[in-house]
Amino acid sequence: MKTLHHEAAMQVEQIDAYEALVQFLYRAPIGLVQTKLDGGVEMLNPMASNLLMPLASDGGLDNLFAVLEGVAPQLQQMADAFEQPSGVVCEALRVPLREGRSAPGAPQVLSISLMKLDPERLMAAITDATLEMQREQENLRRRLRSAARTDALTRLPNRAAARDQLQSLLDRQGVDDRFALLFLNCDRFRQVNDTLGQAGGDQLLTAVGDRLLAALADRMRAAGLPADGRIDPAAGGAGLVARVGGDEFVVLLDGLRHPDEAERLALRLLDALARPHTVGGHEVACRASIGVYWDGGAGGDADEAIRDAGIAMIEAKRAGGARHVVFEASMRERAARRADIEAQLRTALLEEQLFVVYQPVVGLAADGTVDHAAGVEALVRWQHPTRGLVPPFDFIGIAEECGLIDQIGDFVLARSCTDFMRWRAELGERAPRLMAVNLSRAQLAQPDWTAKVAAILAETGMPAASLQLEVTESLAAQDEQIQVRLHELKGLGVKLALDDFGTGYSSLSSLHLLPVDTVKIDRSFVCKADTSHHHQVLIEATVKVAQSLGMNTVAEGIETAAQLDAVRAQSCAKGQGYLFSRPLVSSALVEWIGARFAAPGQA
Ligand code: C2E
Ligand code: MG
Ligand code: MG
Repeated sequence: MKTLHHEAAMQVEQIDAYEALVQFLYRAPIGLVQTKLDGGVEMLNPMASNLLMPLASDGGLDNLFAVLEGVAPQLQQMADAFEQPSGVVCEALRVPLREGRSAPGAPQVLSISLMKLDPERLMAAITDATLEMQREQENLRRRLRSAARTDALTRLPNRAAARDQLQSLLDRQGVDDRFALLFLNCDRFRQVNDTLGQAGGDQLLTAVGDRLLAALADRMRAAGLPADGRIDPAAGGAGLVARVGGDEFVVLLDGLRHPDEAERLALRLLDALARPHTVGGHEVACRASIGVYWDGGAGGDADEAIRDAGIAMIEAKRAGGARHVVFEASMRERAARRADIEAQLRTALLEEQLFVVYQPVVGLAADGTVDHAAGVEALVRWQHPTRGLVPPFDFIGIAEECGLIDQIGDFVLARSCTDFMRWRAELGERAPRLMAVNLSRAQLAQPDWTAKVAAILAETGMPAASLQLEVTESLAAQDEQIQVRLHELKGLGVKLALDDFGTGYSSLSSLHLLPVDTVKIDRSFVCKADTSHHHQVLIEATVKVAQSLGMNTVAEGIETAAQLDAVRAQSCAKGQGYLFSRPLVSSALVEWIGARFAAPGQA
């Protein structure tokens, strides 16, 4: 009896355990189906029938493979192909459900795992993977969005990301914080690309980005941003370093109070870029020009703010680069005028509105005689259809910035060589013996410039020794690249002159380093040659040093007989200026020379 009772109790206990197991399977938030090898359903829990019911076209769940035939026909094939007595047939197979079949909120994707329990039976575990899939898709979208807002080369945020963050800073209201927008453009980057090649240029840009980040690391940290600055560009933030164009970067920093802070920031970045970079084993300098835009708190449009910072950057570039300039509203008008001139200059080149005038350069002998055939200097002019005659000062700089100087320079060189050869034919002995042509920085930066000069000499028949190319002292003293180009030109047999001497940075003590034949003393010294003792001494010293180095000297801008006497007293070899002649068109120059030779000695 006792044992019987005990057995009954045991049975009850077993039934309870069995019931618990059934309840467990019944409530499991995962669909479980046990089938025969052919898919015939033996058991399934409610979750499984919930998930599978919408797929059962005839309303029955007799065969798993038949139910899934429309959405996962491969499942049966996998089961058939599975030869081992037991094991995992497939794991977490994603099965998208046909659209339209699922009601709103119903599963869109199932995840199905299939196991072989024994040689006779299969077990499927089925879950609703809709949420999981949505999360994955959102992640993918975010990654794609972030890729669309990341610069592929530097991994920094790109222009779109910078613009958005800038706009959100401009749009906020009622805060005391101000921000600074720094627009940075590498100086002479084209030259770097020409020398190092594209890959080297890319490397340099990445290095520049890294320098900027490093220089701002503490500010970034203070603003609660990651110190490496590689902020998720999709997320917001109070600052960033972005690459917004070829060699252009934008730095945005919030949490400032005074415009001085923006300027200090600019100086800090300039400082960081002052050290040379090492690219492909070479030391490369990459200075930059920075335009600073200070947030006045008045809001505005992000694109306009970037444009304004860019305008200030161009002012920094015009001032010689490696510096910063703070944007002011008046710069907009100047920029518009420059854009206007640029467009008109393109037309001018097409419609041949440019022409060349020649200013005589005369020889000054100690005995007071003047050699009128010593040479001429070619000076470009622009006959504008409505503005009249435009002086080079008003357009050479702009032409340099927009790249038109190459074409202008080629035109001036070819035209002056042609004219020079014509004078030789017309005037014989009395023709000018030297043709001086001005060069600009951009021309010298062209890698094929020397070959171009050689080609023009060959085409026109101009002897190399009769051509003198003039470079300003600040240009000649610049980087190694320019030095190399100057030596190449010397190799052609062309003469080189240092223009506007006295106005740049280089001094008499470094004159011997430059590969020049002639020093042209700037008009600002010559105009005081007869009145200022200081200037007299400077001219005298220049002539002496030049002579000791075997160089020629020309006094520029002689306007009076007194100035002429003064420079002649310092033994300056040649002179140029309104006293002798203003620049003349070719035909007028021929007449001028004719008249001088008809009445020799006349100045
Ligand atoms: P620069 O090479 O120093 O040319 C001399 C300038 O001084 C010329 O001005 C000339 O007209 C002016 N000048 C000559 N004698 C006198 C004088 O006695 N008194 C005064 N007040 N001025 C005198 P311009 O033609 O206006 O040229 C200005 C500058 O523009 C040139 O300075 C040169 O740097 C640049 N330039 C002119 N033509 C070209 C060109 O074809 N290519 C390039 N790259 N630059 C050019
Ligand atoms: Mg000159
Ligand atoms: Mg000059």
